Amino acid sequence: KEKVPSDIEIAMAQTPKPVTQLAAEMGLLPDELESYGRYKAKVELSVLERLAHRKDGKYIVISGITPTPLGEGKSTTTIGLAQALGIHLGRPSFACVRQPSQGPTFGIKGGAAGGGYSQVIPMDEFNLHLTGDIHAVTAANNLLAAALDARMFHEATQSDKALYSRLVPTKKGKREFAPLMFKRLQKLGIDKTNPNDLTPEEITRFARLDIDQSTITWNRVLDTNDRFLRKITLGRNPTEKGHEREAGFDIAVASECMAVLALTTGLNDMRERLGAMVVATSKSGEPVTADDLGVGGALAVLMKDTVKPNLMQTLEGTPVFVHAGPFANIAHGNSSILADRVALKLAGTEPGEGEDRVGYVLTEGGFGADMGMEKFCNIKCRVSGLAPDATVIVATTRALKMHGGGPEVTPGKPLHDTYTKEDLGTLKEGCKNLVRHIENSKKFGVKVIVAINQFATDTPAELELVRQEALAGGADGAVVSNHWAKGGEGAKALAEAVIAICEGESAFKFLYDLELPIADKIGAICREIYRGDGVELSELAQKQIETYTRQGYGHLPICMAKTQYSFSHDPSLKNAPTGFTVPIREVRLSAGAGFLYPILGDMQTMPGLGTRPGFWEVGVDPESGRVVGLF
Ligand code: ADP
Repeated sequence: KEKVPSDIEIAMAQTPKPVTQLAAEMGLLPDELESYGRYKAKVELSVLERLAHRKDGKYIVISGITPTPLGEGKSTTTIGLAQALGIHLGRPSFACVRQPSQGPTFGIKGGAAGGGYSQVIPMDEFNLHLTGDIHAVTAANNLLAAALDARMFHEATQSDKALYSRLVPTKKGKREFAPLMFKRLQKLGIDKTNPNDLTPEEITRFARLDIDQSTITWNRVLDTNDRFLRKITLGRNPTEKGHEREAGFDIAVASECMAVLALTTGLNDMRERLGAMVVATSKSGEPVTADDLGVGGALAVLMKDTVKPNLMQTLEGTPVFVHAGPFANIAHGNSSILADRVALKLAGTEPGEGEDRVGYVLTEGGFGADMGMEKFCNIKCRVSGLAPDATVIVATTRALKMHGGGPEVTPGKPLHDTYTKEDLGTLKEGCKNLVRHIENSKKFGVKVIVAINQFATDTPAELELVRQEALAGGADGAVVSNHWAKGGEGAKALAEAVIAICEGESAFKFLYDLELPIADKIGAICREIYRGDGVELSELAQKQIETYTRQGYGHLPICMAKTQYSFSHDPSLKNAPTGFTVPIREVRLSAGAGFLYPILGDMQTMPGLGTRPGFWEVGVDPESGRVVGLF
């Protein structure tokens, strides 16, 4: 067998075409492109208006079975399929993927540009800073955190009058409210525009947010796996006069600002969402928002360029939108609505044009279908109003054997013989995991194709067994795909199956009704998707659910923060477990992004680094100046 070179060797051997050429091929106008160097560009949202009359292209969500820590090839399959459709079958194709976080890139998983001959290039730029969106998200999140702590400090150390005269200073002999202050006055029901007219009681209500420290949910963030920041003490310097408090960091891609970017429908909508983000509850029980802190406008300014999707390309030169990067275990795990919309219009047909001209948009729902796909349907599609035409579930014999009882798969350690030699018994047992994901996907009324991502060690009998089990389990198609070793050519059969399945109508539906009580919505996901017996709410979670319901947030959809390694909350329960109850530790509110965020079991919102992180391999080649060691 021919040996496939390393991901970075393959990526570096290919010279990308200039992004201006790529854009022209896709039908973008020069004005709609904002280049960031030669190979990356942001795309202006004005293209949505220009192409509004078009009928959308076909919309396919790519998800997977419950993975091993090595990843089972969702990104690789998304890229391979895009190449097959775009180059080998001559159909317009667009891949929409998330921007990778530096956490996994330097941690255990490596980059997320795909692999082998199905990659996004330049892969080092893709995996690192891209166009700075994650940095902007981090800056916005942390400005809000700083605003919150500074405000509490000033409220604690000043009288009502002093606080008011500093918040509303005298300029040129006149007191003036800052623009955002009118929003706050409105919220308080104070119908006054002259700052001198407020009564002492109104001054107190206006000047004091009166935050109940025990209710603060806003953490600082960093895009690094830095476990020692999970819990910290703030305010240790004497200048903060003893106003210390316990706080913590989350990883930037789990932040609400990132979720807002992924779910927003435009700049004005993003501004509203950022302002509506709730950081805590006041002592009188009111939600305290970023706009209450006066910072919503500044957050939107920090993030204003992030709304434009980033354009890159596959190894074979088809377009890829890389936009937003929420994790799929502790966030909602899908790339942006805006990138999908732009891609659907570019892939779309003009009035009168036939179906044979239609293009395909492949968007990835992170981790297993119990995570990224469930959240794609119940959260992302609810906001966007879009409905998928088909679901692709990526499966590997490796992960299925692990579910069937194979030994643990550990990054950096050689694979056990079970995984490199034929073992039909273990494989068949593990197909129960795949079948449950197929059944779950069908609960959303969408057709399902299983993509069997072929590895060099897979035997024909193993691949055929998975295909048969998938079809017997209800899949509408099951195809072996060899895009990792062969690029788009290797995914041709899969692409043909996708085209065929998209011809029918989709009967997409949501899993739960938004009007149900919060606990019932959580219960529906736990029973229908995870197949647990029910949920067990901690005292804290119950209290939080009561608060959110009272504050008017009960109608939001649910974004479960759960391990990706099991259908359940417990990563050790492999395959298709039953007979478990799901413990809900706490429930956070993402009022701006628009979801409630239950945290299951001992799920962490800041990953850590292991003893042997991926960064050991990474460096700059002294001869060429190129990046080495990213994978
Ligand atoms: P996911 O998106 O599901 O997490 P990725 O597509 O990132 O998974 O793939 C995980 C890793 O496995 C990558 O390093 C990729 O190069 C590698 N990989 C994927 N498919 C194959 C394959 N068929 N053969 C060998 N390696 C593969």
